[in-house]
Amino acid sequence: MAVTSMRRFELAEWKRSPRLTDLRNTVVGLLAEGRHRTALDEALRGLRRDPEHPDGLFVALTVLAQSRTARLTSPEPLTETQQWNALLAPVTTACSSCDGRWYSTHAVMFTDNDVEIQPTNPIGLQCQKCRYTLCRDCLKAQRPTSYTLSVDAPEVVAASCANRDCGGRGLSAPVLPTGRPDVTPMDPDAIEGVIVVRDGPIRPTTEQALAVVTRFLPLIPDDAPLLHIRRARPGTMGDGAARDGLAQSLLLDLEREGVLAPASWGRSSRMHILAGPGGDGDYLIVPVERSHQRVSPTAPHAVSSPGTYTYLLQILPLRGGWATLRDPRTGDFHDGTFGALSAPPESLPGLAQDLIKRFERMGKSRRVLFFEGDRTQQNLSTDDVYGIGTEGGTALSPYSEGP
Ligand SMILES: [Zn+2]
Ligand SMILES: [Zn+2]
Repeated sequence: MAVTSMRRFELAEWKRSPRLTDLRNTVVGLLAEGRHRTALDEALRGLRRDPEHPDGLFVALTVLAQSRTARLTSPEPLTETQQWNALLAPVTTACSSCDGRWYSTHAVMFTDNDVEIQPTNPIGLQCQKCRYTLCRDCLKAQRPTSYTLSVDAPEVVAASCANRDCGGRGLSAPVLPTGRPDVTPMDPDAIEGVIVVRDGPIRPTTEQALAVVTRFLPLIPDDAPLLHIRRARPGTMGDGAARDGLAQSLLLDLEREGVLAPASWGRSSRMHILAGPGGDGDYLIVPVERSHQRVSPTAPHAVSSPGTYTYLLQILPLRGGWATLRDPRTGDFHDGTFGALSAPPESLPGLAQDLIKRFERMGKSRRVLFFEGDRTQQNLSTDDVYGIGTEGGTALSPYSEGP
């Protein structure tokens, strides 16, 4: 996945943006009617179109900052799934010690706002320099028991920043968002599909799958058609290697059905989630990034039916012959350099370019060996090579040892 880092939330960015004023009006109107759930759905739709947009984050936090009483008596209370959507990660505050999360009202209280926010007691305190944060429980745990002053008393400096080299003073308010360490920012529109597997004999419902997926990926319930929901037979999710094998075979199935573009394994990542948010079991989530490969101009228009092939990327070191890339710890082929795919044979040279490009950072000559069939569970022999895709090549070449 293309990894970009989450922007740090800055109070100064809370400016009125003319682009999403409609969203702001809609949400303020819905809140006035007490329709919290619909209001947050609208905010999430805005963020889905434009993740990390300050205006979308602002209205979302406005909904989340409504008093507990207002939310509990609402005819439309917020759902757990909505509240912990990954799109809200940039405005989440996480305790640096126990990772407990909450939405701090401070960021909306200190700004010009269309909605009245009830001031609430701080749920934690923060270093004003680096945002090291402790929740109320962790603050209590750090304090001698004889010390009975309320955490909420602003003059109390209960704990100091634990980050070395920070030089920040004691922890205090305001408490601003810290982001979530378990969410990797990615472009929602770049997601081609997501495999959702739950350990156990029963396939999860769409609602259960969405609860897990939206917590870690920037998607909303409207994205349900992107999900491919499966169950896992016993023992197929036991360890990392087993889960990778399971993911590979499910991806290959979806390629054969024409649902995913070929060579999806190299565009996927695997997330293992122990005891999903619903407490209904362990999950394996496999997001797949869209392929950037364009149809090769040399490929004939009438393509033959797809076959299954195994690919292996090789590099040419400065000294010696062609070599594979291996993980130094496990000895396995480096992630994304080896796998099975389903594609018409004419498209193999183009797919080789895609793989060669993906490992551009290796800075050496690269080529892709293709074998017929799925050989990911077998030993490979050079006698069985079906053809080689070379850099810039428009057709496969026969196997050779030399460059
Ligand atoms: Zn804590
Ligand atoms: Zn600090």
